[in-house]
Amino acid sequence: MVDYSDSDSRTLLKRLRDTLATDGDGQDRLNRITHLIADSLGTQVCSIYLFRDPETLELCATEGLNPEAVHHTRMRLGEGLVGRVARSGRPINTADAPSEPGFRYMAETGEEIYSSFVGVPIQRVGEKLGVLVVQSKEKRSFTEDELYGLDVVAMVLAEMTELGAFVGGENAEIGATHRFPSMFRGTSGQEGAAEGRVWLHEPRVVVTNPVGEDPEAEQARLDAGIKELRERVDEMLGNIKVIDKDQRQVLETFKMLAASKGWKRRMSEDIDAGLSAEAAVEKEQNSARARMKLAPDPYLRERLNDLDDLSNRLLRILTGQGSDTGAEMPENPVLLARNIGPAELLDYDRKLKGVVLEEGSVGSHAAIVARALSIPLVIHAGRITAEALNGDQILVDGDQGVVHLRPEESVAHAFRDKIAMQAEAQKRYADLRDLPATDLSGQTVSLVMNAGLMADLPSLKGSGAEGVGLFRTELQFLTRTRVPRRGELAQLYAKVMDAAAGKRVYFRTLDIGSDKVVPYMKPQDEPNPAMGWRALRVGLDKPGVLRMQLQALLRAGNGRAMSIMFPFIALPEEFYAARDMLLRVRDREAQLGRPVPEELSIGAMLETPSLGFAPDSFYDACDFISIGGNDLKQFFFAADRENERVRKRYDTLDTSFLTFLERIIARCAVANTPLSFCGEDAGRPIEALTFAALGIRTLSMRPASIGPVKHLIRRSDLTELRQIIQRARNEGQASVRPAVTSYLAHL
Ligand code: PEP
Ligand code: MG
Repeated sequence: MVDYSDSDSRTLLKRLRDTLATDGDGQDRLNRITHLIADSLGTQVCSIYLFRDPETLELCATEGLNPEAVHHTRMRLGEGLVGRVARSGRPINTADAPSEPGFRYMAETGEEIYSSFVGVPIQRVGEKLGVLVVQSKEKRSFTEDELYGLDVVAMVLAEMTELGAFVGGENAEIGATHRFPSMFRGTSGQEGAAEGRVWLHEPRVVVTNPVGEDPEAEQARLDAGIKELRERVDEMLGNIKVIDKDQRQVLETFKMLAASKGWKRRMSEDIDAGLSAEAAVEKEQNSARARMKLAPDPYLRERLNDLDDLSNRLLRILTGQGSDTGAEMPENPVLLARNIGPAELLDYDRKLKGVVLEEGSVGSHAAIVARALSIPLVIHAGRITAEALNGDQILVDGDQGVVHLRPEESVAHAFRDKIAMQAEAQKRYADLRDLPATDLSGQTVSLVMNAGLMADLPSLKGSGAEGVGLFRTELQFLTRTRVPRRGELAQLYAKVMDAAAGKRVYFRTLDIGSDKVVPYMKPQDEPNPAMGWRALRVGLDKPGVLRMQLQALLRAGNGRAMSIMFPFIALPEEFYAARDMLLRVRDREAQLGRPVPEELSIGAMLETPSLGFAPDSFYDACDFISIGGNDLKQFFFAADRENERVRKRYDTLDTSFLTFLERIIARCAVANTPLSFCGEDAGRPIEALTFAALGIRTLSMRPASIGPVKHLIRRSDLTELRQIIQRARNEGQASVRPAVTSYLAHL
């Protein structure tokens, strides 16, 4: 193995490819490959270890070790030098194997006589498949070139393993780890449980030709691919005029990376060593992923992540495999994606049983849509898209934020029991559907639902909601590439009111800005968008769209009684200005001879702490007030609702927040202004019960929560609970959660 060169590597790869193309079962191929590698490299031993299960490697073929050991010698991940290579995903190259930490002597292989050891991982993006080992008697360290050559061979073996080239004979169970069960622990984005089959939003790219026939031709393909990639990135930057700061930064980095000379040089070297252009891209993607795992610096990790994204795009260009592979969606599809936009998610419609994302946040648009569609959603689910294959069985536990991929039968069994129990509970709740949420002391709470899509309306009947307490109007704006037309909106709002069949719908005017960026709005590049130019602030400064929306609402009403509320008000004057605009629109409609609402109630969302301290005149002026708890809580505790790190740090049932809520409740009572609560907390049973005990008499929540909340209220005594809450506060407890939980436990 002296002066190992690119041409040696190319010759070896070609022989390897020819071997793979011959007839014979998987075992034959493996045997011939180990022979070939040992022969080409002039070593006494070449062995291939593949995973039998995610924790166990098995010797599957060898040239030089005792043939009896094949399919008998096994080691656990991390065990011995082979296990160490597999665990770390990095090679080991040593002249004196027995003195290496972790060396394990395996008598059955007769290995003690081999001093030098090189092990390289056989891995495909995000997936460990096995280890390729060469050994020799003389004490020598292998050169960088030799190591590199082995890495290239391992890359080809990985592709072949993935394509099932070694399956057959005793290898039936061996090869790709994506046959094994695995569990992912993420965060709950939307509750609920689902069982189904994997549907990848962006299916994996399959490389069928890892070996390059002609390095020059492959080089030309790579150049053309990179050129196209750069053009596409430029196009993304140029075309989308309206993108936020973060998106622009990502694209700029993309642009920089796409032009990176180092990246291109490494891939060119891989091609010189005999790989095809796409295999070279994958090889560099692999090593970027291995580095990503080790990178302590979050900035560097992010960049490596970008490189990963870029590699995927380049792979799709080179292989011509787009997102649409023509595969048929399985029954009960569960969508898996790194991330997904709201429009794309809506395109899937209600066909989906569940959604699992690697990224995302609970406040993201995708989460809002998943919630609107009542689809269980788990976010931050590790690198699940790299491990899953289309059609894999999958269980999504949206309550716990857990996903089981290819589950063991026992896990699937327990999961089905859980689904059955939930169905049972839903049936019990269905029995309550037409009963009021009246507690044991005779106090009644009105339970209404949140909605944002026409598709939500059927839930009105099924859930027993008394109306729609919050209709979020931004989804129609977020999912289009242009401002929706007045006529379209009027039609939709009319359909919503028709479907509500006389039950009240509280329409909230457009709340965009902040996280809800519409593609056709000029980006503001604000340092703190949640506290920036959003919602009513935009509506008042640029009244065109808001006025159009108000017209659409009134036309949809066609004379019927209506409730309209304005989001994100910080000062009474903002409410007054919006109300004036609405009244002017109404008067103008009347002048034009169009019907106007027989009764128009105009309300404010209380989402900023300042409104809690507004003058009495404001409380008198509002026809109703609805607490937007999601925003109110984030501003009260100064904790970003989309930042997973800080979001859960503050308890809604913290006495400071409850004291503030009580103040609002008392002020509304004095002003005789109806008050509701419509943030996500209204649908959480413990929170909902606490709000009711404190005196909030209307709770607006997602439809699936109405049953459980009603069930609890009907079994509770709100007067007694109020006393318990009061006692906990008098005792100086920071949160009343323990007190309320223990009350519920004794029901
Ligand atoms: C809220 O802030 O609680 C609310 C209901 O509005 P959104 O979640 O749409 O901001
Ligand atoms: Mg809000």
